Amino acid sequence: MSHDWNDSGILVAVPSKLICFFFVWTIAAAQAFSSQAQPEQAPAAPAQPSVTPSIPPKKSLAVVILDPAHGGPDLGARGSSGISESDVVLSYARLVRISLEAQGLRVILTRQANDAPSFDDRSKLAKAQRGSIFITLHVSSTGPPGTVRVYSLPQAPVKQDTASALHSGLLPWDRAQFNFIDQSRRLAELIQIQMAQRFHGSSETPFEAPVRQLRTVGAPAVAIEVSSVSLPDRAPLDQMGPGLADGLARAVAAFRTLYETGGK
Ligand SMILES: [Zn+2]
Repeated sequence: MSHDWNDSGILVAVPSKLICFFFVWTIAAAQAFSSQAQPEQAPAAPAQPSVTPSIPPKKSLAVVILDPAHGGPDLGARGSSGISESDVVLSYARLVRISLEAQGLRVILTRQANDAPSFDDRSKLAKAQRGSIFITLHVSSTGPPGTVRVYSLPQAPVKQDTASALHSGLLPWDRAQFNFIDQSRRLAELIQIQMAQRFHGSSETPFEAPVRQLRTVGAPAVAIEVSSVSLPDRAPLDQMGPGLADGLARAVAAFRTLYETGGK
């Protein structure tokens, strides 16, 4: 009986103890294994997309290079009444500077007085400034008086030497505008719209022309041409100054938003 019990006891009790032992061992082993395994799982965590993505640096438009064209011995267009383009554009630049500075922009004039920096010296000012745009001011010799035309460079076909230069990362100096054609066109559009609202008879869409000064500017760049020096006196041209300054400030503010948000 006791044998039976022992037998049965062994047969029943031992396996149950073994099962129990195995159960406890399994849990303990699992815990030990998982606690050992955890440090091995940890290094896998950086592969998860919890890593902070790198944020591209913010593009900001901070500087406007204002270029009163001509100067020095180069008077630009001259009217029969003695009006010279180089004088009129300098007075425009001084007014435009005030309205742009009111927008919190830094303004650099390519000439402060009747001096004559070279095309390249003027362009270099834009090159030296991060986040700048370039506006060259002209007065035409002809055209409907009291109107304003805005120009950007046309998209020129890429020559072979330019293509290989682009590929090597070296852009020829006279092709500095190449990467800014679209932005320049957009800036020209925004300015031309403002001019059409202020100066009756002005186009609502800007123009494209191979303006010499714009070619070497490595930044969004436009030319503004007011008509014209062919007037009996300067007064009508001077009266256009405040409208020009206000319109330009509004257009540049609109362009600044597009530029900084990457909009088109
Ligand atoms: Zn000119």
